[in-house]
Amino acid sequence: MATNELYPEFTAEMKNTHTILIPNALPVHFSLMGSVFKDAGYKVDFLNYSGQKVIDTGLKYVHNDACYPAIVVIGQLIYALESGDYNPKTTALMLYQTGGGCRASNYVNMLRKALNKAGFGYVPVVSLNFGGIEKNSGFKVTPMMFLKGLITWLYGDYIMLLRNQVLPYETKEGSAKAVMEKWRIELTGQIRKNKGITRREIKKNFIAIAKDFAAVEIKKDVRPKVGIVGELYVKYADFGNDYLFDFLVEQGAEVMVPGILGFAMYSLNIGMESHRLYGDKKGAMFSRLAVAYVRMLENTMLGVLEKFPQFEKPVSFPELKKIGERTISSGVCMGEGWLLTAEMAELIEKGYNNVVCVQPFGCLPNHIVGKGMIRGMNKQYQNANICSIDYDPGATRVNQQNRIKLMLSLAWEEILEEKCS
Ligand code: SF4
Repeated sequence: MATNELYPEFTAEMKNTHTILIPNALPVHFSLMGSVFKDAGYKVDFLNYSGQKVIDTGLKYVHNDACYPAIVVIGQLIYALESGDYNPKTTALMLYQTGGGCRASNYVNMLRKALNKAGFGYVPVVSLNFGGIEKNSGFKVTPMMFLKGLITWLYGDYIMLLRNQVLPYETKEGSAKAVMEKWRIELTGQIRKNKGITRREIKKNFIAIAKDFAAVEIKKDVRPKVGIVGELYVKYADFGNDYLFDFLVEQGAEVMVPGILGFAMYSLNIGMESHRLYGDKKGAMFSRLAVAYVRMLENTMLGVLEKFPQFEKPVSFPELKKIGERTISSGVCMGEGWLLTAEMAELIEKGYNNVVCVQPFGCLPNHIVGKGMIRGMNKQYQNANICSIDYDPGATRVNQQNRIKLMLSLAWEEILEEKCS
């Protein structure tokens, strides 16, 4: 695409001159992923701006009817350009495009419109997508970058899983975070040297990470077990969900958040679903091979976790699909689709029966596969205690937190009853 005034392209020369800004949607995973970009020669910064000022910036340039994640991430990007922390002339912005039927595929165009309105129309926008929606001559995801990116997600999931099970019980505050930080430094170093990416190396690292978390001194008291499911951005991004994880831990809960690899497999699996349901062969073969590869990574993780029974492990992707199919068809692939419902059921079955289901206000797919499935979940699981929380620019934190506290008070009551019986 030739450079034009409205849609400047990220060119090969910009690789040496520009910093690419990316909203931090996955704090644990992105802390590892930076090394993949650096290794490929890109300078990137993950943005953590938060607060009302960022939301107001988003609302100034994005219509308030747009999805909340769009308002927040575009707000963060434009706030960064206006903040004086970056020189807009040597800055590029990146957003991810899923390519599905959901509105997320339009965020890039919304951002460009907002940039023009804010007087930054000359700032290039890079679309990170794997469906060939947009191409940038200066930014290419090479097979090595893709592989390493996927592996950082795997490590991110694994570290998040163990951190979440240790942190609420640690006797010395900060111990679990220290293990995380140790492994962030170790893994980013390894990945930059093309290490830690073969199955054997991953397994070795997994064992060492689990041993480090298992060595943290804990006091295993009884706490409410809470799961978080929902729309991808508000599920993982601290700013998107008003620091939900921290709040729940503060309230005395143990929190389980299903990993991002599940979403990767769910997305890659769509090609096979289209073939099964509509006979569409395009993409079916890639879908099969890609899911098989990620499954191999998943199996490595599950195999190691077998040796550490003190840690709860997730079910495999095929099992998760089966659990979901009790309530919803695996052909439901808009937004987070059947995966959201399946994760809710999996959490309840694992004892994380207090579930916070988060979604942006007005998010159609997730209101169907999340909020819309709560009745079905309650019917199927007598002990389910599900609380659905909407996020939008006008939602008050106090209101959200009060609803979560109400859910937790029921959980505490149950714990007390069990203790007394
Ligand atoms: S999943 Fe929901 S919030 Fe995300 S783009 Fe789709 S409609 Fe918007």
